[in-house]
Amino acid sequence: MKDDVSKLIEVCRNIYERQLVSGKSGNVSARLSKDYIAITPTLKSLGDLEQKDIVLIDMNGEALTRGKPSSEAGMHLEIYKKRPDVNAIVHTHSPHVTGFSFSSDEMKRLEGFGEIKNPYIALIDYEVPGSVELAKSASDNIGTEDVLILKNHGVVCLGKSLEESESLAVFIEESAKTQFISKMLNSAKDI
Ligand SMILES: [Zn+2]
Repeated sequence: MKDDVSKLIEVCRNIYERQLVSGKSGNVSARLSKDYIAITPTLKSLGDLEQKDIVLIDMNGEALTRGKPSSEAGMHLEIYKKRPDVNAIVHTHSPHVTGFSFSSDEMKRLEGFGEIKNPYIALIDYEVPGSVELAKSASDNIGTEDVLILKNHGVVCLGKSLEESESLAVFIEESAKTQFISKMLNSAKDI
């Protein structure tokens, strides 16, 4: 279990250094067993977490260790309940994906997402961050998707492992950046 928590801290540091999360935003969790998850704390930067900062919660959201779990713990739990195949979740407000979430442009699925069932990345309507409504909407709409954009908010990436969720969070941001650049270049042609 200690190894899982160390890996979680490493992933948090990586996404912080890659500037996918900044300030005290973003949250990451890992399923440790069928009954528990480890999740990042609320109101703390993901850039310098220690073992004692990580909160263990049960599937009802009750903390089993000291500290206060992320305000999005409910969303993580509801997704884990719907998706037994998912063992790690990374939620960021990475700038390019979040830019798309605030625009009327949908993000396309570029290559690298495996089988493309839907030409666009799944997107849900805005709900207040940290709310029960957001947890419900995200888990109700996730289906078999591995990435979900939260309107006017950010993105949630799911994986079988922490490494998988982390690389998806990196990939989706890069994909958004590429789409943003291509939109700029295409619109510049019209000038
Ligand atoms: Zn958020």
